[in-house]
Amino acid sequence: MNKLIWNTPEYKAIHQKLFWQRGRASDNQCTDCDDNAQDWSHRHDTDALDLINYDPRCKSCHRKYDYSKYGNHRAKLTDDQVREIRQKYSSGSTRKELSKEYGIAPSTAANVALGIKYKNVA
Ligand SMILES: [Zn+2]
Repeated sequence: MNKLIWNTPEYKAIHQKLFWQRGRASDNQCTDCDDNAQDWSHRHDTDALDLINYDPRCKSCHRKYDYSKYGNHRAKLTDDQVREIRQKYSSGSTRKELSKEYGIAPSTAANVALGIKYKNVA
């Protein structure tokens, strides 16, 4: 599966292509509600370089959809896992690697590693 990173040339290129081939997201109705779409939303676990795998969504549904990817994994981390994450982060693991390993969002991994979340774990 291809992972696209914000602001990479690949990411910009795919959005340029989407615009050429499928038009503005805002010319479509949101896939999940009756509002006008605002974004092209990548369908999770599909090839991010294939334009077929993008659905028009409004901002709020897009956010919900992307959030749902991690929804099943929002189980709490154990204290030991929190310590491990911090340990690994300080020895060079990236938040992306940690996110995969622990099934949490990269932003959560960063917040845990930096002590913004799970402040109570020493
Ligand atoms: Zn919507």
